[in-house]
Amino acid sequence: MMLNLLDYTIEELAQVTKLSPAYRVKQLFHGLQSGQKIDEITVLPLSVRKELSGFAVGVDIIEQFKSCDGSEKYLYKLSDGNIIEGVFMPHSYGNTLCVSTQVGCRMGCAFCASGIGGLVRNLTAGEILGQVLSVNRLKGGDNNKRQITNIVLMGSGEPLDNYDNVTKFFKLVSSADGINISLRNVSLSTCGLVENIKRLADEGFGVTLSISLHATTDETRQELMPIAKVYTISDIIDAVKYYFNKTGRRIIFEYSMIKGKNIDFFDANRLQKITKGYPSHVNLIMLNPVKEKKLDACTQKDAERFLERLKERNVSATIRRSFGNDISGACGQLRRSHLNNDNNNKRS
Ligand code: SAH
Repeated sequence: MMLNLLDYTIEELAQVTKLSPAYRVKQLFHGLQSGQKIDEITVLPLSVRKELSGFAVGVDIIEQFKSCDGSEKYLYKLSDGNIIEGVFMPHSYGNTLCVSTQVGCRMGCAFCASGIGGLVRNLTAGEILGQVLSVNRLKGGDNNKRQITNIVLMGSGEPLDNYDNVTKFFKLVSSADGINISLRNVSLSTCGLVENIKRLADEGFGVTLSISLHATTDETRQELMPIAKVYTISDIIDAVKYYFNKTGRRIIFEYSMIKGKNIDFFDANRLQKITKGYPSHVNLIMLNPVKEKKLDACTQKDAERFLERLKERNVSATIRRSFGNDISGACGQLRRSHLNNDNNNKRS
């Protein structure tokens, strides 16, 4: 695979490119962090740009889909030809980009499209950063003008199954020389890889931790998420308490409401116990349809009753607004894409 220039800090870039004098490295770095490709960084002499042409830079946006709710889905092409997806969501407080961390995923959750076909490969730090920088630029930003203010690692892939690249991405995206997005505005969502949750806590990045819970008993969770056979809900509770104690960050739980599976009276009781003793919030999500999967969403009425029950038990919870359903860009609908073979999508 080609080396990707976005994989590097400014110091590493100097070594990899062997550019001199030092201000040339700075010019290159700032151009890259603005989302420019090498031939667009015209402060660099043509000869230098030619020397660098053997490197890859980030990812390329090759298609865009616009939802009627204001969100947008992108297809990004990687330097080896793989295609991944991501979603832009405008909010009153800023703009959130949902990024992918792997091509495919090996977690195999029963409701999610991202794992269909398994894991193809990890994304590098530069390929994750590249998603942010290309959309930032598309929206008129550069490395001094942020059009993306919030990032959620909730696209395809399990971020804690790609720990080193994801944490390198955290360093790069929050770098003062770069786009400098505060890690307080970054959320990492995980199906619950307990050892790496603790490692993340110890390394002090301080990102918001979201746990994909989706069930209140190990039995039901195992039915929905193979990883539940490795880590129990009790292991997860220990890990999130550890995360809170180290970082002071409130824990978020993602909970997709599935007809007949996980939203009865007893689930409400157990969810109260699971979330007790540390600050947390439960994001209830209506299960989004994935055509290969057999599970159904609950009704709006059932969802509201479950929310009421949680509130009666003093569990902080909301039903999360869903984005991008009409462009297959909602939670769990992102997948490995193929060009011209994507009949799930309508072109904008
Ligand atoms: N692998 C990570 C990151 C994915 S984030 C994780 O498991 O957290 C995507 C979120 O959408 C996760 O909470 C995931 O469980 C949820 N999800 C997956 N499929 C879904 C579906 N069909 N409907 C609603 N949410 C879904």
